[in-house]
Amino acid sequence: MLSIFLLLTTLLTASTLTVAQYVLRINCGRNCVNVSVIDSTAKLAAPMKHMVQPPIKGHDTLECPSFSFLIQHPTGRRPLFDLGTRKDWRKFPPSVRGLLEQYSFGIEVDKNVNEILEDHGIDVAGGAFEAIIWSHWRYDHIGDVSAFPSSTALVVGPGFVETFTPGYPSRADAFVLESDYEGRHLHELSFDSDSQLIIGGYRAEHYFGDGSFYFLDTPGHAIGHVCGLARVAPDTTEENSTFVFMGGDACHHGGEFRPSQYLPLPKAISFPKSRGISTTCLGEFLVELHRRDSAVTPFYEMAESAVHDRAEARQAISNMQAFDADSNVSVVISHDATLFEMGMNVFPDTLNAWKQEDYARRGRWIFLSDFCSSPRLLAGKPRRLTCHM
Ligand SMILES: [Zn+2]
Repeated sequence: MLSIFLLLTTLLTASTLTVAQYVLRINCGRNCVNVSVIDSTAKLAAPMKHMVQPPIKGHDTLECPSFSFLIQHPTGRRPLFDLGTRKDWRKFPPSVRGLLEQYSFGIEVDKNVNEILEDHGIDVAGGAFEAIIWSHWRYDHIGDVSAFPSSTALVVGPGFVETFTPGYPSRADAFVLESDYEGRHLHELSFDSDSQLIIGGYRAEHYFGDGSFYFLDTPGHAIGHVCGLARVAPDTTEENSTFVFMGGDACHHGGEFRPSQYLPLPKAISFPKSRGISTTCLGEFLVELHRRDSAVTPFYEMAESAVHDRAEARQAISNMQAFDADSNVSVVISHDATLFEMGMNVFPDTLNAWKQEDYARRGRWIFLSDFCSSPRLLAGKPRRLTCHM
């Protein structure tokens, strides 16, 4: 796959197209969807050592939300991509509760996603949603599907049925509840029906069939993990389409996919005032925290406990980096708290105007301020980076 990127780099050198525009150009189109990020109200906490490696001292806990996405097609069809977690999380199967205890994960949830939608007048029980898409099977993405009527289908990635069904209680050690899929259409993606479709290095599959929303096959973190790619502004004679890339848990933190060969660490970074950092930070000092002293590779990689298949996880991230660097793609991973700090519009607003709002550029490097309490950074360069956290 590296050779594909080298080829792309070569091609792009002689072209004005950005990487993702190059790989997506065969799919140019005018059909779009509206995409809203729903703040699922989940407040999660996980020890970083269970999520990423190697450790960076001072960055010990991942405190994060869990996003759900509402996708609205012009025809009125509406799927949801992920549901966050459920407020009665103690009803998860014993095996899930055991993992939460084993890894000291913290969960607080005020409302289920169906309740948030109902608060805005959407008739969930009346069948407002044709489908729920699980990026993958883990507790912080699957919500409570039983709150949706049987007319709402459940869409899962390859390998889910064989690996995770039957659910609990039919199988005592299952990770999902039987009640989440029983009595409704359970559709497992195969990525075989449209096998010629490759987008940005990923096997891809249409959802609506018109180029407005795609599934991307992104295993690595978990069996059956899928990402979503939504076209939110059409190609015109003046502009290429813009897209929202729903990254799920392909990464859990910005430091797992940034910086990259396409997006090197900037020379100077200004953080939001909310982070309590009073001065601009110079990229050269942050490089000192880097595992490889590199400005073009990510700070972290997935920890052993967060990865199902290392090679596939690396490939999924490598592909995602090309999208992340494209000026027409906004990458939103499920647990990116920095997007709230940047001021991202959430449901009932849409993300469609992200490019006009300059979200991708404004939010891209905020995660670096997670490292500002690193003793190494503070000890070495106290006058150059002042933290008040
Ligand atoms: Zn997650």
